[in-house]
Amino acid sequence: MSKYVSTSATFEPRNESGVSTPGRFDQRPLLVFWEMTKACDLACRHCRASAQREPAADELTLDEGRSLIDELASLGSPRPILILTGGDCLKRRDLFLLLDYAASQRVPVALAPSVTPLLNVGMMNALREHGVHSISLSLDGALAATHDGVRGVANHFAATCDALASLKRLGFRVQVNTTVMRQNVDELAAIAALLQRLGVDVWEVFFVVTTGRASEALALTPPEIRDVCELLVEAARYGMTVRTVEAPYFRRTVREAAERGENQWSSPRADQWRSDLRTRLGPATHSLRAPSVATRDGKGVIFVSSRGEVYASGFLPLSLGNVRSTPLMTIYREHHLLRQIRAGEFRGGCASCASVDLCGGSRARAFATFGDPLGVDPACPYQADASRMLNAGLAFPARRA
Ligand code: SF4
Repeated sequence: MSKYVSTSATFEPRNESGVSTPGRFDQRPLLVFWEMTKACDLACRHCRASAQREPAADELTLDEGRSLIDELASLGSPRPILILTGGDCLKRRDLFLLLDYAASQRVPVALAPSVTPLLNVGMMNALREHGVHSISLSLDGALAATHDGVRGVANHFAATCDALASLKRLGFRVQVNTTVMRQNVDELAAIAALLQRLGVDVWEVFFVVTTGRASEALALTPPEIRDVCELLVEAARYGMTVRTVEAPYFRRTVREAAERGENQWSSPRADQWRSDLRTRLGPATHSLRAPSVATRDGKGVIFVSSRGEVYASGFLPLSLGNVRSTPLMTIYREHHLLRQIRAGEFRGGCASCASVDLCGGSRARAFATFGDPLGVDPACPYQADASRMLNAGLAFPARRA
């Protein structure tokens, strides 16, 4: 998934105060992710979609896609942003018809395609002509061997860097999605430097949730996650917007870093990474930006699968209904689980956490680990209980997802 599924988007509006906004997302999401197809020519190890070569017969049709767009348009301005993902959205034969329809209904669209021969300069120009201005691509290493190993495709790293350079040259706003995992965690500083050189606008870092092809062996421990969050705070001081997916505690890390000044969190690994970043990029060039608006799975964010099933996120495989039988906004506004998520009615450590509104934990990871989408996020680096359970191996036996 790394091509999907942010809990935010390249043009997410910002709450500059970093102050939470309870109730803000009760009636309408900020971002609607539509997995247009599961078809993709790649077979990445951590893919949420468990993508396949050919489209499934039961994908939402062109008319059903238009109905989805109609529903977003009916919400009025500002309309939610529709993020088209997959699989590979470029495998949808009716992609341009849907882009034109979204443009006619003034629904803003961002694309998250795969890097394959389909994403050539001719295609990029066509996407521009059909109203696309923002594109996100996945890059999972600073070294070709790392990225190509994750993607399972030789020379994919070079193709991705070339595609990013072409997109920037053509004037797109470009986001890079990186899934952080054991194989690439020591390359994060180098990835940040590479993205700076390429002029990437947004870096979105995904933290593994054990679903799809992803395996538990890829995931980081809570202390490692804290170190990564600290590195990302530093990376954000170089002008690039940095966000996380399924690690909302990053907002807490940013807030605390802004309050306490620099370098008060110290571990040998975090210190090493920070030093590596400064060696590559020199002194920080920007002040720290406030946390983005506090969206989370099901709060400001909703995901529609290729078959029309609705999920709080692409990593939370708990169907809440289907747009074929129920309007998306009815599901979004009225489903009991989504109302609980938006109200912060959690269990365990997240229930009593003072940062619950700013953070709220990964609902997907709570479900994947405990079978409880309202449970504590077991990867939380701020929760001793959650970390202890995870480290002692007590979490996974309880899982039923
Ligand atoms: S306990 Fe929950 S809400 Fe608090 S920081 Fe951890 S994951 Fe976030």
